[in-house]
Amino acid sequence: MSKTDIRSLTQEEMKVFVTEIGEKPFRGKQIYQWLHEKQVTSFDEMTNLSAKLRERLKETAALTVLKEVTVQTSALDGTKKYLFELEDGNMVESVLMRYHHGNSVCISSQAGCRMGCRFCASTLLGLSRNLYPSEMLDQIYAIQKATGERVSHLVVMGTGEPFDNFESLCRMIELLCSPEGLNISHRNITVSTCGIVPKIYEFADRNPQVTLAISLHSPNDTMRRELMPIANKYSMDELMEAARYYTRTTGRRITFEYSLVKGVNDKKEHAQELISRVKGMNCHINLIPVNPIKERDFEQSTQNNVAAFKHILERQHIQVTVRREMGRDIQAACGQLRKSYKERSGDE
Ligand code: SAH
Repeated sequence: MSKTDIRSLTQEEMKVFVTEIGEKPFRGKQIYQWLHEKQVTSFDEMTNLSAKLRERLKETAALTVLKEVTVQTSALDGTKKYLFELEDGNMVESVLMRYHHGNSVCISSQAGCRMGCRFCASTLLGLSRNLYPSEMLDQIYAIQKATGERVSHLVVMGTGEPFDNFESLCRMIELLCSPEGLNISHRNITVSTCGIVPKIYEFADRNPQVTLAISLHSPNDTMRRELMPIANKYSMDELMEAARYYTRTTGRRITFEYSLVKGVNDKKEHAQELISRVKGMNCHINLIPVNPIKERDFEQSTQNNVAAFKHILERQHIQVTVRREMGRDIQAACGQLRKSYKERSGDE
């Protein structure tokens, strides 16, 4: 019999679960608080439950616990990059970034990824499996525990495509924002997608307070198809229509991520074409000088090209920023640490 993944249960489900094992519903709330507010990693820490109940929980429920494999701290900006091992031996990466507005954690939503974006290290070994809601939360909880500092912001921009693990993503958000849990505001959460169009509509309807970021990286279909296989499935027209629906329905500004690759998508005409795509939209463009990975020969745009690209957008009153590179010295870009670790341990 498989055990219940107890940290993935909502409060309502927890009440049902405890009732089924012969307890009063209020125990459900207590257990929920232990798991999400106090973030314990064992049933024995739940000291206001009887020894009998704790034993019953051990028999019927599983508590996912991440093992910290490595942690690297950037000497440049204090960014910390964690490599965690899941119960089944899979590895995931998470990053802690310290900003003046609070601590932000970037989590992985899948072990590996099947989206195949050409410039991305996370997808090189394919998808291993989806993460459970508990395993996404555990990344945040483990970092909070390790640092003793509160996490106030979440970005789902680590390894994996969150909309390819949609139900677990939505459940994780619900748990994270619950008052009996970490009580993070929806507005402090950003989810980044490579552009799975039907899920953008669904997400707008279900999580209207969350910030959505869309990985665009190109101003037209031809180029986008070369960089991102998902573009063969959904055209840019369809993607932009979904983005407009998102801003209309939620009233929230959308972010477009645009990684600048030298000589590929960083020319003046690309900036012009991008303007024609986003003009009039409630959006913000985040330019990311591409992080070169050794398996591909993409080069980072020069600082001059990045500045020129930005300037063209600004002249047309498009809101644009260049992403501050955090943790550059510790390979904080997607998937690099996990991959190099797997290679070192001959696990390919
Ligand atoms: N799968 C999601 C979220 C993960 S990646 C998505 O595609 O949006 C987070 C962001 O980093 C995405 O915009 C992704 O395209 C970008 N990215 C991946 N590898 C990169 C690299 N080597 N250099 C710069 N940006 C990269």
